Amino acid sequence: MSASLRNASLRQLAFLAGGFVTLVCVALLTLSSLREWGLRHEALKSAEVDLANVAQSLVQHADDSFELADSLIIGIVQRLETDGIGPGAVQRLRDDIDLRKGTIGRVRALFVYDAAGRWLATTEPVDPALFNNSDREYFKHHRASPDKGLLIGSPIRSRSGGQWVITASRRFDHPDGSFAGVVLATIDASYFSSFYRRFDLGSTGTVTLLDKSGIILARSVDNESSVGRDVSSTPLIHDMDASRPAGLYYFRSPFDQTLRLSFYRLSDRFPILILATEAKDEVLASWRQEAMIRMALVLGLATLIAGTGIYLVRQLLKGQRIAAVLAANEADFRLLAEESSDMVMRIGFDERIIYVSPSCIRLLGWTAAQLRETHALAGVNDEDLPHVRETVRALKQGEVEETRLVYRTRQREGGEIWLETALRATRDPETGKVNGVVAISRDMTAHKDLEQKLATLAIKDGLTGLANRRHFDDMLQQEWRRAERDGTSVSLLMMDVDNFKKFNDHYGHQAGDSCLKAVAAALAAEARRPGDLAARYGGEEFVLLLPNTDEVGCAMVAERIRQSLETLNLAHALNPPTKRVTLSTGGATGWPNAETHGNHPSLIAAADRALYAAKHTGRDRFVMSGQVVAWRGAESA
Ligand code: GH3
Ligand code: MG
Ligand code: MG
Repeated sequence: MSASLRNASLRQLAFLAGGFVTLVCVALLTLSSLREWGLRHEALKSAEVDLANVAQSLVQHADDSFELADSLIIGIVQRLETDGIGPGAVQRLRDDIDLRKGTIGRVRALFVYDAAGRWLATTEPVDPALFNNSDREYFKHHRASPDKGLLIGSPIRSRSGGQWVITASRRFDHPDGSFAGVVLATIDASYFSSFYRRFDLGSTGTVTLLDKSGIILARSVDNESSVGRDVSSTPLIHDMDASRPAGLYYFRSPFDQTLRLSFYRLSDRFPILILATEAKDEVLASWRQEAMIRMALVLGLATLIAGTGIYLVRQLLKGQRIAAVLAANEADFRLLAEESSDMVMRIGFDERIIYVSPSCIRLLGWTAAQLRETHALAGVNDEDLPHVRETVRALKQGEVEETRLVYRTRQREGGEIWLETALRATRDPETGKVNGVVAISRDMTAHKDLEQKLATLAIKDGLTGLANRRHFDDMLQQEWRRAERDGTSVSLLMMDVDNFKKFNDHYGHQAGDSCLKAVAAALAAEARRPGDLAARYGGEEFVLLLPNTDEVGCAMVAERIRQSLETLNLAHALNPPTKRVTLSTGGATGWPNAETHGNHPSLIAAADRALYAAKHTGRDRFVMSGQVVAWRGAESA
């Protein structure tokens, strides 16, 4: 996937994640709010049902109360209309009423007035002669109206007890139908109010008994101050839909100005109604408290989700920025690689070439396209391959971070070049694991050739191509040690060209050089065994190192050399008697042991002494150290 594509999809992912988290939070809050709204509605509904039940029972109770009062009144009215109000009849009535005291239950008192408002009889323990009730509203009503039905009047202060009472009354007539007086029953307003207080309607719940015109008859709270109050102009009565016998509505209380949930119920027998109310705040109080805890939890959860979401989106965007930086780095890498004269390669974990810079054509002869996807170590020289393989393995295992290698690799045309390669492990930016290797290779062939030449120069003699003296010294030391270890012998032949000064003088220095080359070639040809080493010891002196060779072998080689010089037959006019180039040779054989350890110069000294002896006994001969082996006949050093 390209970097820009990767970036675009990352950004898209971040947007998606952000959108999703927002959606989840909004959904969570919406669902919770909806549920809370539903629970609130339920709380109100259940309060409404409670209020309706209370109103229903209490209107029934009020009906029963007035019915009881009315049945008492009707009894007395019938009796008065039958017996009349003569003195005897009144006395009997009084006795009868006296007897009834204590059996009239919730009815507080009974009164009988004549047509002038005078008290004829009462259950109250007062003297009836003291009072006149012709001024009372209900009295005036009955006197004026021929209607013989029950009248429930406005509450009044009792003349006999001083408390608030509710009155229920009927008129009674003379036999001719004219107004004869009024029979009245009273019920204490406090009877209703204390009865209402038995119902649990919460601290703000109220029950009120009203007459249809909007005058309060009794109230569960503040009874003393509320009774008799006209609330017909308040919205409570004002807005009441009187055509319906019961109803639910909300109103602001004229008493405490709180918004109240109310249920009213009209009596179907009397012109009264019951109103049960409860403050809306209180109805919703417990819901509100629980809702607050629940919403706090939901908000906490939403915050947590949003927080996590923001964190994740940030991480994604951070990843995107890193990807952008990586893409820029990659571009820089390409630019450097493309412009470099070195060959830059990116190798995957499977050791295949992922990328190679264009200079590969110059180094290897292959184009970048041809090399891509091929195995990176394919052309490496077999001798170098194990080392290269081991190095790459160590990089991939993370054992080394970077290293350098020099190895040979094949070119397309079949040739081989030396490469010096700097290698570095690359790591996945996300996991930090090694995911490949970057290799930067440089052509080292010229350098290697030079190195080779220098190495050759260091050990070879320039004129003859034989080993030089320094190399001979090193090899002698080595062979001496090896012979000591193996318990074998080392032999050495030391040769000097006879009368060479004269050769130079006679043939010239250049001819002398050629002569030395020819002698050297003959010597080299006789160094037949792998360990044999022919060297130029100096001037026209040569040595032949013969490891693992005893005196007999040594003499044999000396003889072979003499023969090959004889065969060469190089003219040397001033070297009598043969008049050709000859050698004087000193030989020595050593059996190194612990005692002679490190004393290889003794072998040279011995050979040198033997050579000296050869010179001084006539030249063109071989003298073995400790004995003389002459070419012709024997001579001793
Ligand atoms: P002898 O060894 O038989 O006693 O006589 P010699 O004439 O060989 O004596 P010496 O060893 O003293 O002389 C060595 C001569 O070899 C001296 C020098 O001119 C010559 N010589 C040494 N090195 C070279 C060289 O590289 N090229 C040439 N042309 N001559 C060299
Ligand atoms: Mg010499
Ligand atoms: Mg000489």
